[in-house]
Amino acid sequence: MNEVIVATRNAGKAKEFVRMFEPFGVTVKTLLDYPELPDVEETGETFAENALLKAESAARLTGRPAIADDSGIVIDALNGRPGVHSARYAGIEKNDRANNEKVLLEMRNVPADKRTARFACILATAFPDGREPVFAEGYCEGAVAFEEAGTNGFGYDSLFIPEGYEITMAQMVPSEKNKISHRAKALNELRDILPKLAGDER
Ligand code: IMP
Repeated sequence: MNEVIVATRNAGKAKEFVRMFEPFGVTVKTLLDYPELPDVEETGETFAENALLKAESAARLTGRPAIADDSGIVIDALNGRPGVHSARYAGIEKNDRANNEKVLLEMRNVPADKRTARFACILATAFPDGREPVFAEGYCEGAVAFEEAGTNGFGYDSLFIPEGYEITMAQMVPSEKNKISHRAKALNELRDILPKLAGDER
């Protein structure tokens, strides 16, 4: 494996993957390098299904191994919602503020000990030669606050208090979040299985 496609147009995510693959001498391309590739509709019912849809499409259209991620927040008191609908929980527009307000409204009567939640990140790697896809996953356990706090990060960070902390993810500096985040854990797992993938190349 000397080149891999990361199926994202998000420059921040792309940078994390470049850093991870550098030591292996693997070149990272993203969908920014393939502007003609279509966006894939996330029609799956699980994070893994959506990550795989995106990875398989990119692998098929580029002829290269491709990695895609899907992530979101899973709230126990809301029976697992927003889940795969995290980005658009409050409507078609991706609106973090509206999403957070909807969660707070739905949880207004949920007591502190029932506010448990987790961020999830699933990475799927798909191959153009029909090899079985490989998955890596990471979770960050925590609880939903009673009100928003903090201005760092994005999405549900201002509502999410990680286990062992008394501040939200949006009150952490990025380096602190990156040590405990679901995405960091999934990337670590992928890093551990990469040498095996590279060795599998025929
Ligand atoms: P995607 O996997 O990039 O499409 O992210 C899905 C949605 O999950 C985002 O739009 C956010 O609402 C939420 N999300 C995923 N990761 C995080 C995170 O690290 N912090 C806050 N929200 C997140």
